[in-house]
Amino acid sequence: MTPDIKPLVAGNWKMNGFRNSLTELGNVTAGYDAAMRNRIDMLLCLPATLIFSAAHVALGTRVQIGGQDCHFNQDGAHTGDISAEMIADGGGTAVIVGHSERRTDHGETNSIVKSKAEAGLRGDLITIVCIGETEAQRKAGETLEVLKDQLDGSMPEASTAKNVVVAYEPVWAIGTGLVPSVEDVKEAHAFMRENLTARFGSDGAKMRLLYGGSVKPGNAEELMGIANVDGALVGGASLKAEDFLGICAAYEKLC
Ligand code: PEP
Repeated sequence: MTPDIKPLVAGNWKMNGFRNSLTELGNVTAGYDAAMRNRIDMLLCLPATLIFSAAHVALGTRVQIGGQDCHFNQDGAHTGDISAEMIADGGGTAVIVGHSERRTDHGETNSIVKSKAEAGLRGDLITIVCIGETEAQRKAGETLEVLKDQLDGSMPEASTAKNVVVAYEPVWAIGTGLVPSVEDVKEAHAFMRENLTARFGSDGAKMRLLYGGSVKPGNAEELMGIANVDGALVGGASLKAEDFLGICAAYEKLC
């Protein structure tokens, strides 16, 4: 946690979910009570096909709906892509860019991620920029170097504490049940804070830094208690309302 920063718990459904999965979203909104709303911001990033309907389910609940990627252009001949403006048009208020699955599966470089993040800002979306080292990079002792490279190369110049969130997601911890040690998360987040403050001043000091990678209700409190961890980006455990709310409840205790 960072004093004076309201935590964000963001879910990433990835390529999961059909229209009938929106009942699970309804369960999340029902459990997001006034006490939780006051302490924690909540966001669910859904497949593009569900954004519009999900925004309706979440209307008036303060659960935010977002996309998982966007093209860097506003429109044009880009078959299969969606733009930040389209996410906003569907009722989305946020977008994830640079998730390691995009970087790996779609060859997204830092400069592509930066263009997408700039598009997120252009579309008036809260933009979550993901960074994180692979297992090989970690074993080679390159973690902080990789984080520096990704931050320097992926963050838009116009980043502020209001419009950008950074998610540290060690690639080897995503979907594996493996979680770095408290000391390792502490070191990575302190490094990110220092880098962002040096570049963005007071905005960098107040920017939300999420941890992502196998966050579950059982480890959420310990992770959230680490300095400069201002919330979580949650994959698998965001698919079930009970688990997602369990993570939020663990965080709520500390706020
Ligand atoms: C993710 O993909 O962003 C993620 C953190 O996944 P999981 O929580 O399933 O590890």
